[in-house]
Amino acid sequence: MNLFFATGPRIMHEMGLALQIVEIAKASLPPELAGARIQRVNLKVGKMAAVVPESLRFCFAAITRNTPMEGAELFMQEVAVVARCGACGHEWTLDGPAFRCPACDSGDVRMLSGRELDIVSIEVEKD
Ligand SMILES: [Zn+2]
Repeated sequence: MNLFFATGPRIMHEMGLALQIVEIAKASLPPELAGARIQRVNLKVGKMAAVVPESLRFCFAAITRNTPMEGAELFMQEVAVVARCGACGHEWTLDGPAFRCPACDSGDVRMLSGRELDIVSIEVEKD
């Protein structure tokens, strides 16, 4: 129990995401496929979305137990962090937070990608 509470905020974060994934996956199935067995959910996860894949899988498995989504695989494709400079238009890929443009040293830096957690597609088992 103590261990659970020690990691509480992290688990809660992934639990919330897992709940959202389940809700969105359910909602995006066409009516004729409602109740069909979902095999795989393909996700795009930004490097800066702060998602721990093992935690997300753990939460997803816990939520989907005894539902048509039980056993579905979560496939996570990592999305690089891309930033653009508002001053000179330079675009670059970075590994972590960056707040200055490497081309002109401006601080007007905007993230184009890297924070997203998107459901790209859902694979359903066919009879
Ligand atoms: Zn610049």
